[in-house]
Amino acid sequence: MALSNSQYDSIIREYGRQQLQNKHEQDKRVEEIYRVIPAIRELDDAISTTAVDSARKMLAGDGEALARMKAALADLREQKEILLRSKGYPPDYMEMHYRCPDCRDTGYVNGKKCHCFRKAQMRLLYAQSNIEEVVKRENFSSFSYEYYDDRTVIPGLGRTAREHMRQVVEVCRQYIREFGENKGNILLTGSTGVGKTFLANCVAKELMDRYYSVIYLSACDLFDIFSKTKFGRQGDEDCDLYGDILDCDLLVIDDLGTELNNSFTSSQLFYCLNERLNRKKGTVISTNLSLNALRDTYTERVTSRIMSYYRILPVYGDDIRLRKRQEGRE
Ligand SMILES: [Zn+2]
Repeated sequence: MALSNSQYDSIIREYGRQQLQNKHEQDKRVEEIYRVIPAIRELDDAISTTAVDSARKMLAGDGEALARMKAALADLREQKEILLRSKGYPPDYMEMHYRCPDCRDTGYVNGKKCHCFRKAQMRLLYAQSNIEEVVKRENFSSFSYEYYDDRTVIPGLGRTAREHMRQVVEVCRQYIREFGENKGNILLTGSTGVGKTFLANCVAKELMDRYYSVIYLSACDLFDIFSKTKFGRQGDEDCDLYGDILDCDLLVIDDLGTELNNSFTSSQLFYCLNERLNRKKGTVISTNLSLNALRDTYTERVTSRIMSYYRILPVYGDDIRLRKRQEGRE
């Protein structure tokens, strides 16, 4: 997948819009300061006068003008800072503020796409196509505990499905809060329809809202891409996607175990999970398989990675899709 022209234009337009907004907000801050600390307006006037005067003198051949101007400007700026601080403002309050300081909201650094551009691109290419619509419906604000039984204590667990679900949700929320440099991983396991995918979507939505790059793929689609990439060449669109799968902040693999399994898928899965661990990226996997079945389906290497580096969250309950259908909600 590559960006179409209109997709590219829409990203660039968004940068343009952001730059205008930055300028607008800066203007508002400057206005506010001139109102609160009028002396700063005089200092700003002095700064421009000094710069213009010095330029004229430099043009007239005054060799010392540049050094004098630098000293004078440093002095004026220091006075400004002192005044700002005295009223409790940060020293950069009147400067331009950027959403991405790395590229100053241009999308490019030294002629190369900035990380924020790549994120926007990923959002457009993959996330939007397969998840952005879904997470409008499936997110924490639409999550309901009413589908989880609150009467029967699950043997061996010592609590009801609803009590257990509250804990699972809390772990997911904590995962989102702590999603930073080292991102961590979650395996959601449980039978069909208990809400694993819904929960994975909740996590994806929260992280997308925080501008992390998220790719969501069913296990079948994931392995499909792997097999295409195997025969692909660098620079192919599928290869780009493959690179993003290894490198996005969060990868959601939905319904692991439903794909056609063989030694190729197992080794590809190991490579993918292991590579993401090395890169400290976050992965959330949902599966109907029990841990034993997981061990039987994939190699020991795969399961041992999951057992060691994933938070295993079993989800209990009735088939919610079935209940919704019975109650006529779907
Ligand atoms: Zn940037």
